Amino acid sequence: MSNQGDIYHELWNPKSLDIRQPTHLFFIEPIEIGTSNTESLSSYLTRLAQEHCVTPKKLIMREIAPLIMGNNYHTEMQSKNVSTIFGNSDAKPAINGMREMTRSLVDALENLTLRQDLKFLSCLTWKGIIKERGLFRQNKAWCPLCFEQWFIKKQPLYEPLVWSFKDVNFCLQHHCQLCDRCPHCDSALKAIANSSRLGFCSRCKSWLGSEHIKNQASLIDDLETNCQKITGIGELIAVTPMLKFPPTLSDLMRKLQIIHFCFERVVNQDLTQFIALGKIMEQLKITLTQHQDKPLNLINLLIPVCDRAKISLAQFLSQDFQTLSEILFTNLNINYTVNQIIE
Ligand SMILES: [Zn+2]
Ligand SMILES: [Zn+2]
Repeated sequence: MSNQGDIYHELWNPKSLDIRQPTHLFFIEPIEIGTSNTESLSSYLTRLAQEHCVTPKKLIMREIAPLIMGNNYHTEMQSKNVSTIFGNSDAKPAINGMREMTRSLVDALENLTLRQDLKFLSCLTWKGIIKERGLFRQNKAWCPLCFEQWFIKKQPLYEPLVWSFKDVNFCLQHHCQLCDRCPHCDSALKAIANSSRLGFCSRCKSWLGSEHIKNQASLIDDLETNCQKITGIGELIAVTPMLKFPPTLSDLMRKLQIIHFCFERVVNQDLTQFIALGKIMEQLKITLTQHQDKPLNLINLLIPVCDRAKISLAQFLSQDFQTLSEILFTNLNINYTVNQIIE
């Protein structure tokens, strides 16, 4: 009897069902989020348009522009190019970076798809912490072999965020240089164009994939440093969604201080180490004394500093101060304890 009572109780007091609010646009999953191959925001937008069988222009003008522009949006704008929405400079691939327009686009897309992870398809998390200037490309770059491979394996075509960075000039997987002009019409391609289609030129509509390497990565000068930069950028992209707390500039400055302290100890223990560490120590000192409130240079400071400190950029960004200090003392053979530092 008590069981029957339970049934009636459940019938009259049903548990609330876990039904998502209907989304205005499809709830499509970003590709490879949380890895160094995370999809870029512009790629997601283009794929979203493809899934709805419309051009990016139609999706932007009908759904996104009214949200971004509010009362300033007029239907006559629909006859114009999508660059009128993003502004001349914002139409460039830096839309995947840290601009205000990047935030507006993320907010609009999250609102329309009910996803909450789309900021990780850009570098918004690092706004004010990592220096934006000179970090991103003005036009698209792509690996033709990646496109070809995904096409053959029937995997979704997309553009990883890492391709938006100026310093990423080759594909770590295929060891070929990235292309930045269409091999058929020689056009430089914008991140978001009126009728972009992933894997195809937005100007002449030709396929951008290829099974042949045109330029080997080995032709690039100082391949090792380039490889280190690309790996570092990939780590930044992969680790961002995993961070337990939003990163702060002061937190990273404190970690750089302990690294500088470690470098000093290393040189004190063995003067010959000054040859390897002198230059980077000087750069660190200038950053710590004169630019404490300025965003940090990813390529010329954070990546080489981590390399000299024998830690990965992911460790630098994700470990707490105490754990990072212990890792540094071990890696650099420094006879010190964290308690001595905190005292
Ligand atoms: Zn590739
Ligand atoms: Zn073309």
